[in-house]
Amino acid sequence: MSNYDLVVVGGGPGGSAAAKEAADAGLKVVILERGRFCGEKNSSGFGLAPKAARDFDYIKDLDVPSLWPTKFGVMHIVEPTPSNSDRLTWGLTPPKRNSYPQASEYMVQMMYRPEFDQWMADKATSAGAELKLATLAHDVIKDGENIVGVVDHHGNEYRAPVVIAADGAHSLMANKAGIRKRWDKDQIVVLATVDFEADPERIAEYCGDTNVNIFMGPDRGGYCTICRDGFHIGSRPAKTLQNEIDAGRNLSTRSVIDNVQLDFIQRLIKATRARPREFQLHFLPWLKTFNERIYKGGLMLTGDAAGVPEPFMAEGVWQAMYSSRLAAQVAVRAHQDSDFSKEYFKQYMEELKVSPVGVDFTSGTVLRDFFSAWTSQTFYDLFDNLADAMFYSMLTFAEPHAHGMLRVPAIMVDMIPQLLFMSRYYFPIAEEASRDKIKGFLAGTKMMAPMLKGMMQPPAGGE
Ligand SMILES: Cc1cc2nc3c(=O)[nH]c(=O)nc-3n(C[C@H](O)[C@H](O)[C@H](O)COP(=O)(O)OP(=O)(O)OC[C@H]3O[C@@H](n4cnc5c(N)ncnc54)[C@H](O)[C@@H]3O)c2cc1C
Repeated sequence: MSNYDLVVVGGGPGGSAAAKEAADAGLKVVILERGRFCGEKNSSGFGLAPKAARDFDYIKDLDVPSLWPTKFGVMHIVEPTPSNSDRLTWGLTPPKRNSYPQASEYMVQMMYRPEFDQWMADKATSAGAELKLATLAHDVIKDGENIVGVVDHHGNEYRAPVVIAADGAHSLMANKAGIRKRWDKDQIVVLATVDFEADPERIAEYCGDTNVNIFMGPDRGGYCTICRDGFHIGSRPAKTLQNEIDAGRNLSTRSVIDNVQLDFIQRLIKATRARPREFQLHFLPWLKTFNERIYKGGLMLTGDAAGVPEPFMAEGVWQAMYSSRLAAQVAVRAHQDSDFSKEYFKQYMEELKVSPVGVDFTSGTVLRDFFSAWTSQTFYDLFDNLADAMFYSMLTFAEPHAHGMLRVPAIMVDMIPQLLFMSRYYFPIAEEASRDKIKGFLAGTKMMAPMLKGMMQPPAGGE
């Protein structure tokens, strides 16, 4: 039996971020990771949002061989099947109006997960955390209602007054602690990816700094992200496990296979002499509302285990790091206050709920449904009309420019149903996001009301 101040289950980005934070604060920490190395279960590439560099000082030192900051991206509006051609492509660069510098420098940093996860684990061990690889956390140790440690698959006990379970989407720890049995079928998605390896020189020559491609079209969606020595192709916006069951087939796998047929991908494969490297199916929590059941006495769930990936683009690494660091900070305070009760750990849930991670859930199901709508015919029609409007307003080779320009107002009228369709999602999301600001504004006007009233009173002794 070994005694620690904190046991962290899972050596993914969440687990390592928690362990580093707690070890930096002086806690005796152990990470239990079932893989032979951190990141073993993930082979494909991913994009790390600039938010990570803003919020975690050490991310500025990030240096792994596959790292490639993405300066440019392309959105491909794909014609309805059976065509595999683009109807319109739209170049994407980091937006100009940003609140912090990194967001203007790159869109995401592309790299391979095994490299990133090991780099993160090194940060945790350099801070003093112990890392136990090839160690499967099998059960929790209970003392009444509190969790006081973990047992591994060999029966070894790791005791600590606080356990952070960063053990991914399926979270055995959440199950064993009695927090939940499993996600509901409508709360989880199965995502397929296919990964290609390719000649780095040819990739650099063919792709340059354009490393993210997004595909949209009727019943079509997905992405292709490009690293230094390969690229991977992802599936359409997530459909829940329930959607898959209702459809009677794995929509995500079908979508990836369709995406490989795209003209753009076929050209990329040929130009870079790419070879398939791996096909993967991963589960990801896909919640409509913020999950409050993420703590009990002595235990906090973080990252995918807590269900915090944002319900729009399946981004979850920054969310895992952020929620895990918050949990580690609460663990440090719990030690200072010698309080490991359920009531104490409630503050973790409450702080996370109002944090930038929690804010993504304020618009609930609307945001999630908006992303699913990307594959609709109406969305395609919007871009289809936009393409014609741009063509006739500026570029037409088909007719005299003056005649082309006269077509534009009619095209804009055609777009009205599609703009109304967009606003069905946009306004509820914007309204929810700005509710606090509106409240603040109204409170401000309320405070100013007596003053305004006074100003509007006729001066004493007036007519
Ligand atoms: C196809 C796909 C593409 C994605 N792309 C992106 C992207 O581009 N950008 C982004 O930000 N996010 C992306 N995500 C989401 C992201 O991968 C997750 O949200 C993120 O990995 C969550 O981190 P985590 O530390 O919570 O969990 P994980 O990364 O799942 O780490 C959990 C760790 O715990 C270990 N573990 C599990 N059970 C046990 C146990 N019982 N004992 C010991 N160890 C255990 C696992 O081996 C693993 O190392 C993507 C997800 C998918 C499925």
